[in-house]
Amino acid sequence: MKRNHLIKPTLGQHYPTISHGIGVYLYDTDGNPYIDGSSGAVTASIGHGVSEVVEAMTEQAGKISFAYRSHFTSDAAEALAKKLSDLAPGDLNWSFFVNSGSEATETAMKIAIQHWQEKGFERKNRIISRWTSYHGITMGALSMSGHVPRRKRFVPLLEDFPTIPAPYCYRCPYNVEAASCQLQCANELETAIQRIGSENVAAFIAEPIIGASAGAVTPPLGYYPRIKEICERYDILFIADEVMTGMGRTGKMFAMEHWGVIPDIIALGKGMSAGYTPMAATMISDRVMEPILTGSKSIMAGHTYSANPLSAAISLEVLTYLERNELVLAAKEKGDYLLQKLQMLARQFEIIGDVRGKGLLLGLEFVSNRASKRPFEQQSGITSRLVTKAFEKGLLIYPASGAIEGIAGDAVIVSPPLVITKEEIGRLVEILGASLEELQQELYR
Ligand code: PLP
Repeated sequence: MKRNHLIKPTLGQHYPTISHGIGVYLYDTDGNPYIDGSSGAVTASIGHGVSEVVEAMTEQAGKISFAYRSHFTSDAAEALAKKLSDLAPGDLNWSFFVNSGSEATETAMKIAIQHWQEKGFERKNRIISRWTSYHGITMGALSMSGHVPRRKRFVPLLEDFPTIPAPYCYRCPYNVEAASCQLQCANELETAIQRIGSENVAAFIAEPIIGASAGAVTPPLGYYPRIKEICERYDILFIADEVMTGMGRTGKMFAMEHWGVIPDIIALGKGMSAGYTPMAATMISDRVMEPILTGSKSIMAGHTYSANPLSAAISLEVLTYLERNELVLAAKEKGDYLLQKLQMLARQFEIIGDVRGKGLLLGLEFVSNRASKRPFEQQSGITSRLVTKAFEKGLLIYPASGAIEGIAGDAVIVSPPLVITKEEIGRLVEILGASLEELQQELYR
């Protein structure tokens, strides 16, 4: 078969062909095994080849896969929305289903703007976001994203959203030590709101733990309570982009629970269906829905496949499986274990500057000098070299380098499925160690 019609991430590069997956392992058609050390793009949280999900999929497909949401609702979509409302904190009781994380954050943005319009605030439509962030690849989501390499080509077309620095403690934007931190990066939100005018700002959006652009960067304890307090003071909605962190990945069902903060809107994706189908959601609180329910009664968003019964049934089974097998707790326990192992690697390899994250969303950042935290030169391509070496040895890890050049270095995310065993973690760390060994030798020979 000719293989030059599919546009792959890097054209001209050879990609093995996937055959099948079982648990944390993927197999190519030559029979080579790979440990899915990143759950793909932090997605396959319940592991591969789960028969219960295949059964739910088959059962729903046997009844109906697609019925247009303007014509019908479905038991599957209604049950999934109910399940999410049961799992979510506070009054986050409403779900709007979409097909990708990008659509979920775009929808979150639109709902925030609509909320204020329905209340008569026509100008309250700006969204504040952070540098070193990723909210998706569509133009609205990319506008909100502070992921410099992914924005680059489109900058003239993007809205001017990212405004404030990220809570990046390892590289504190204010050069402050943890002990004397006054949460200046959170206070920066207030400064931004005052500059733009709260009458013009609809919402602030943030990833609870920064993923694709920096590799599991985790803010200090007081950060989100301060953010929420500022949002409330200025009547600004708080959108948590939990596309990567949601559904148990960090050892809590929703990562924002680590900070005891309840957002007004949550964007979900990835782990919501664990890769078994494209499915994502925007969850909305009663308070945010209220003017819409009494006003226009409809949300100006949606896609042909929104809330399709097949994807809804699959996602519902994934969440049921997550609960039945207590995988949120497993993420915490296995995450603590993996974190210790990664810290051991950091003691062994000089090029690891920082180990961070929560649950099974962990990150490593690389530096050319530990004391000065100097990143490697861009052209050394540390992340891609490490990812390639690990791949060749049968381990998948996720590259995460999207901060402003010179501010941050290279990072990878290690985020295996929540079903990973201690033995499998041992193997993962062994391959990662061998890959680091090779890379470090190449760098310093
Ligand atoms: N938001 C976050 C936090 C993400 O990590 C991602 C993807 O990595 C997205 C949004 C976009 O999701 P998708 O790739 O499904 O469009």
